[in-house]
Amino acid sequence: MILKMDSHHIVKFGKKNYRYKIEKTHRKTVGIIVDPDGSIIVRAPYDMEENIVIEAVNRKRKWIADKIKYNEKVKPPIPKIQEPISGEIVRYKNNIYHLQVHNSDEKKTRVVRVCRTLHVYVNEDLSDNARTGEIKNVIVDWYKNKARKFITKRVRRYSHYLKQVPKGIKIREIKLRWGSCTPEGILLFNWRIMMAPVPAIDYVVIHELSHLHDPDHSASFWDMVESLQPTYRKWKEWLHIYGKQLDLRW
Ligand SMILES: [Zn+2]
Repeated sequence: MILKMDSHHIVKFGKKNYRYKIEKTHRKTVGIIVDPDGSIIVRAPYDMEENIVIEAVNRKRKWIADKIKYNEKVKPPIPKIQEPISGEIVRYKNNIYHLQVHNSDEKKTRVVRVCRTLHVYVNEDLSDNARTGEIKNVIVDWYKNKARKFITKRVRRYSHYLKQVPKGIKIREIKLRWGSCTPEGILLFNWRIMMAPVPAIDYVVIHELSHLHDPDHSASFWDMVESLQPTYRKWKEWLHIYGKQLDLRW
């Protein structure tokens, strides 16, 4: 029997109603996806009867409500501005640094950190667009260099305990993720992680290193993460809440 399963349904938890949509797929079990935007999609096998699917969703209603609540804590991305200007804030290891832009007659744009200020020297003859691009590139390179040094040190420290050594470490421009582990055993890290507090950076390092041992997010994977960082849940959640704010404003 073929059931029409693409209409909206409601699951109740407490005083709240949550709308969800059922999608038929080739999977063998019911899977529920709670999107960060709040929409709920339930994937079910083609031949599963609708009341069985609805029952499965009802059994998971507390999980759905918790997931929605968790996603509501996420802070929006920081507002963007047209161009980097002096006085603008950038974060490094969760500390606030200020940007100071100087016009210079040097050809090459460069950045110098003095205490909590990043001084950027940029050629005065550049057009506005080129100037913004140059400043952004030189600051991203600054973060990448810092990340390469710092993360390599942390990887070395934790790989000693885990007895897992990566084939390489690469700092990349990655959207939406903090890190990943390739099947070849190379660890990739998003340079923006250097804006986070050090324990959050450590969490990402430990997470990716643990993938060398266990590619899935299995119970033994999380045991391994916890053995090295007992407070990892706090930093995982910190990244979930504040992650979108870890970016440059231009
Ligand atoms: Zn992972």
